[in-house]
Amino acid sequence: MNDNLNKILNQYSNQISLLTSKAELENIRVELLGRKGIINELFQNIKNIAPEERKNYGSELNQLKTELENLISQKSATVTSTQQISVSDQKSIISLPKIGHLHPITQTEEQLNNLFRSLGFSIYDGPVIVTDEYNFERLNVPANHPARDMQDSLYIDEPQYLLRTQTSTIESYLLEASKDKLPIRTAFPGTTYRNEKVNRSNHFIFHQYQAVVVDKNITMKDLIGTMDLMFKTLYGPDVVVRYRAKYYPEVEPGVGPDMQCFKCHGQGCPLCKHAGWIEMGGSGMIHPKVLANAGIDPKEWRGFAFGMGLDRWTMAQNNIHDIRTLLGGNLAYKPSAK
Ligand SMILES: [Zn+2]
Repeated sequence: MNDNLNKILNQYSNQISLLTSKAELENIRVELLGRKGIINELFQNIKNIAPEERKNYGSELNQLKTELENLISQKSATVTSTQQISVSDQKSIISLPKIGHLHPITQTEEQLNNLFRSLGFSIYDGPVIVTDEYNFERLNVPANHPARDMQDSLYIDEPQYLLRTQTSTIESYLLEASKDKLPIRTAFPGTTYRNEKVNRSNHFIFHQYQAVVVDKNITMKDLIGTMDLMFKTLYGPDVVVRYRAKYYPEVEPGVGPDMQCFKCHGQGCPLCKHAGWIEMGGSGMIHPKVLANAGIDPKEWRGFAFGMGLDRWTMAQNNIHDIRTLLGGNLAYKPSAK
């Protein structure tokens, strides 16, 4: 090989041996072997070589090209393997093996978010530390109302600031923020907090899912139809749901959906505490006072809201028998194929 070509080979073989990243190697590859690279330029200059030397020069040039290609390809294998342990390089993070899975509660939330998005709902979020006004007053639960005994609250700064006790609190913020943007169809998952003793069925942190619609001419039929569709989507077309009249201060009338136990089909088993039915949450037509509290005229607008617990639901779907497992660091469960 002539001196000039030898010089190129030595210089670049040295450079390539010192490289540590794939990006640097790619730069060198383009510089040498790219369309406008050194090797192509040398091939183009072949016309300036004396005709009797051209054949020999051409063959040496091809030899140089092959040697450089081999050096780059060998280096490429080693920089790839060292890159996999470099967390600073985003490309290497993508190349790490995919292990682990989303938390089962997150999976259930996403399943519901997708369903409600397909029905034209937007997904909303709200604050975790809330005021007494938004958690109780605006939801038609004034001071001294017996409903306040139903949920022992966790106060940050009594009596004003507390951790939200229900996703209906997010509804208070949503309604106020939307009063000039009606109609709305909105759904939201959220963690909620109550002063509960922790055992295998209760926790002071739990998860709820809520959907809210405010529009003109909304009726109970829209509420039941939406809930029916949700249960059928999640549990199949044969799911049996009954709706019982129930009292919740923020709705009028209030309805509690119960699903026939999918394990015993109404015969009674430990999952349904031998009732044959599983309570799925609370719902109803938004109380006119709640709309008025948010600055929405209840004579012009009506709405429905329903909220349900996600923990028991997710546990049943994933065969988890202790609610504490959901918040533990050792979530030994088999992710369902989705
Ligand atoms: Zn059962």
